[in-house]
Amino acid sequence: MDIATTLATAKGATELISSILATSKNTAVQQKAAELTSVIINLQNDILSMQTEYQATLKERDDWKEKAQHREAWEITKSKYKLFSPSEGSFVYAIKENDEPDEPAHWLCANCFNKEIKSFLQLKQKHTGGFLYQCQNKDCEAKVLDRNNKLSPPKPVGVVRGKSWMDF
Ligand SMILES: [Zn+2]
Repeated sequence: MDIATTLATAKGATELISSILATSKNTAVQQKAAELTSVIINLQNDILSMQTEYQATLKERDDWKEKAQHREAWEITKSKYKLFSPSEGSFVYAIKENDEPDEPAHWLCANCFNKEIKSFLQLKQKHTGGFLYQCQNKDCEAKVLDRNNKLSPPKPVGVVRGKSWMDF
């Protein structure tokens, strides 16, 4: 029997007692019927409290299940990456070679990785100091500078004084 059926049965009992109260002129019967109504109302309230607790327990169980599933999936993801320093002072999680042959080489944000969030680092800017990557998670947006990967500095342009083009 579920809770809704139990509550419906209790409601039926109170209606039955109401009809006894309406038809019986016996004071003792009426007094006992009123007491019985009070007992049933208390039971209904207890059942409703139990239902609330039961719902909370079910939600807790579902949350726990969801966390366990996330953790299991995360452990698989985590095993495919290793901590890597593209240049001094910069850390990322890089996909292990040959672990996912179909995926191109890429980096994940170390900050998000430690929070069990898989967030790609995307190239944001190329300049002579290095290539700048940024985390795509809007709550993080961490930046990583890869100093080993630099644009070539611009070549000097102009005329060298005292020499003509024929001297070169
Ligand atoms: Zn991040």
